[in-house]
Amino acid sequence: MNHHILSVHETQQLLNTSKNGLHQSDAEERLLENGRNELVEKKKNPFWILMLNQFKDLMILILLVAAGISIAIGDVKDAVLIISIVLMNALIGFIQEYKAEKAMAALKKMSALNSLVRRNGKLIEIATSELVIGDIVVLETGDIVPADIRLTETHSLKLEESSLTGESYAIDKQTHQLHLENLPIGDRSNMAFKSTIVSYGRGEGIVVATGMNTEIGRIAALLQEKENLTPLQIKLANFTKRLSLIILIICAIVYVLGLLRGEDSIKMLFITISVAVAAIPEALPAIITISLAIGAKRLVKKNALIRRLPSVETLGSITYICSDKTGTITQNKMTVTDIWQPNEIVSYQNFKEEELLLFAMELNHDVSVDELNKFNGDPTEIALVTYTRKQKHYNESWRENKRVNELPFDSERKRMTTVYEYNGKYIAITKGAVESVLKCCTTQDDTEILKVVNTFAQQGKRVLSYAYSILDKLPEKSTIQNTEQNLNFIGIVAMIDPPREEAKQAIADCHSAGITPVMITGDHPITAHAIALETGIIYKKTDKVITGAVLESYSDEEFEKEVEYIKVYARVSPEQKLEIVKMLQKKNNFVAMTGDGVNDAPALRRADIGVAMGITGTDVSKEAAQMILLDDNFATIIKAVKEGRRIYDNIRKFIKYTLTSKGGLISIILLAPLVGMPIPLIPIQILWINLVTDGLPGLAYAAEPAEENILQRPPRRTDETIFTKSLGFHIFWVGLLMATICLSIQAWAIHIGNDKWPTMVFTVLCISQMGQAMAIRSDIKSLFQQGVFTNKQLVGAVLLTFALQMAVIYVPFLQDIFITKSLTVIELLICIGLSSIVFWIVEVEKWIKRRSLNISRSKK
Ligand code: ADP
Ligand code: MG
Repeated sequence: MNHHILSVHETQQLLNTSKNGLHQSDAEERLLENGRNELVEKKKNPFWILMLNQFKDLMILILLVAAGISIAIGDVKDAVLIISIVLMNALIGFIQEYKAEKAMAALKKMSALNSLVRRNGKLIEIATSELVIGDIVVLETGDIVPADIRLTETHSLKLEESSLTGESYAIDKQTHQLHLENLPIGDRSNMAFKSTIVSYGRGEGIVVATGMNTEIGRIAALLQEKENLTPLQIKLANFTKRLSLIILIICAIVYVLGLLRGEDSIKMLFITISVAVAAIPEALPAIITISLAIGAKRLVKKNALIRRLPSVETLGSITYICSDKTGTITQNKMTVTDIWQPNEIVSYQNFKEEELLLFAMELNHDVSVDELNKFNGDPTEIALVTYTRKQKHYNESWRENKRVNELPFDSERKRMTTVYEYNGKYIAITKGAVESVLKCCTTQDDTEILKVVNTFAQQGKRVLSYAYSILDKLPEKSTIQNTEQNLNFIGIVAMIDPPREEAKQAIADCHSAGITPVMITGDHPITAHAIALETGIIYKKTDKVITGAVLESYSDEEFEKEVEYIKVYARVSPEQKLEIVKMLQKKNNFVAMTGDGVNDAPALRRADIGVAMGITGTDVSKEAAQMILLDDNFATIIKAVKEGRRIYDNIRKFIKYTLTSKGGLISIILLAPLVGMPIPLIPIQILWINLVTDGLPGLAYAAEPAEENILQRPPRRTDETIFTKSLGFHIFWVGLLMATICLSIQAWAIHIGNDKWPTMVFTVLCISQMGQAMAIRSDIKSLFQQGVFTNKQLVGAVLLTFALQMAVIYVPFLQDIFITKSLTVIELLICIGLSSIVFWIVEVEKWIKRRSLNISRSKK
């Protein structure tokens, strides 16, 4: 349908709506009828697909084949066992993945966008997916247009339609009816199309198409987003592949050796198959997703909403945090403290004293008042209006002046102008950053003004100034040239915006964690310097403040030399943020950058972690960001970094734990024949070990609290792989140790003629892994320093595993299945004692590490 050839009125009639919008009930009906305003209906994985997914693993298939062979040779009992273990494995995998998927869905929902609509004549915010045809939508700078819209009102509205037309410059929009039916999309100037960007101004319009019926919906097939693997997952998947190959080769060797020794070929086949299944860490990539997803869910509770899962991982590597000042480091709770006017101002008509300034303050803003008499809008402007209305010279009748034109604020120009009908003429009022306003003024000598500004700025105050001009007639179209010229200076307003209470501590945390905090602001350099000093961003003699103008004058080489000393960038334009990110990255930094406006999007995208503001951020910045601060608070970033480091640590601990266990198992199978003993474990026991040791304690690592020094150590190097040399070494020697202990007890029991040695080896292997699980909770601290019960989940998992193991060796019915025998109390105690060796030796390893760390520290 070509709505651009209809008038506003015709469109309203056609779509059965009005200026006041739809009635809520009507909108709800339409939503049911036409469906949600969504581009891709993501097919949710149904329950059974998730379940089936658990079976597509190669290893599981091998097991099923093994079960098949069992049945073929008439060994039904074994087949049933194998199948039940496969089912249990699948069930655990399913529960984990189901949890992860639910966590992700919840995150997606939280990061979905909202739209401002008129319904029942009231302005309300609704989820963009619930927009329906006929809704009246308000568009503001930075919005992503939520549906196809016939515009009914525009104020300097410009849209960037590159997602639809490929043209990257912004296009002026208007509301008049057009007459050519087959106009190209880019020329339909009275329409706003879904997924294009409001790059300037504001407007309002009627929704004419939603979801897949929009222009972008028709080409949406091209936009299908694919979930990417995280870098860590890719690394681990490759690693797992290589490891699997090695394990398969070892299994082949074990098999051949077995045959050479004259073992039964079917029995050997089962053993090698079960070793392969147990040793190949096929679940690793999945475990990573789950840990990251659970981590992301915890981060939301700390007000950091993660939009892309890999970011959880990247957070731990951040070396620079570039943050906005206003609202992020400061509270965004502004209060006007001072006003000041030059002695001689060119006053107008009957205004006297500060009346003209108050008049200007009353008129030049976009603050609105809601039913509860609460102000809504930009905190800076709310502060101005709040102040104005309390003054003695304030006159309520000023409010009745009609605004006839405006040039909206933008952070490039740093000022805004509104035009009013006044006594038969027109008055244009401009407010903005002092330099920016003075540029448009006729003032001859501004030394006095600048002196006053500096005094206020040194106190950390935000300073704005006002100017006006009288226009005899209204220009057809207001431009900078015809409206922001030859202004008369009126005065200055100073306001405070105190730093957030948490900011100081958060900035101190950054320093100790090896992260450099940097402030980027559109505000005055002196104001910015004062706040940076107060919060600790500037604390060294070499720390510098520079302005956007100076930055612009730098050559690449100069900037590269300076960049590490610059702690505050003031009066910068959003475009310069991109340059800052690029330069920091060039110097091998990992950069988190905050932003809220449309023009911040490129910098947010380029940063390693783009951080958007949840409260004040525009749609565009949110879409470009990897993380959203739900409370706009700087301190939340460092909390997220801490959490990111913790999650990464825990993934590493899990890998350490699981690979050591697998190493132990393989070593036993490989070494037993070499030292002339039978392989002590049977397939069902091997599978059992795999199930209980991986499954339960593995999950509990996600709950491991952050290590105490987590914010006292430098960021993880980005080129560091998770599988470091020291990790490999640990896995190797602890695995070997486990095997040695198991084989020793086997040799000893055989030697003294105790025929329960298979049960003993089975038990020792299981329990020593529990010891390992507890011992590696910290890389360096002893378990007792850490506190045994600080990870209750892990303690629970270990106790449960122990209880299950006891059941398997003492319950008669399970004894039949697992071919175990009851151990006497003495035998059990011997097993437990020997198993604890692993725990104690790993504790000694950490003790040595602590000692050498202390020695190297005291040498410093
Ligand atoms: P920041 O958010 O980093 O403080 P902004 O880009 O919002 O910086 O503002 C830059 C400058 O523009 C401010 O220091 C102030 O002088 C001016 N300014 C900010 N908001 C407004 C506004 N609503 N109207 C006019 N000028 C403004
Ligand atoms: Mg701002």
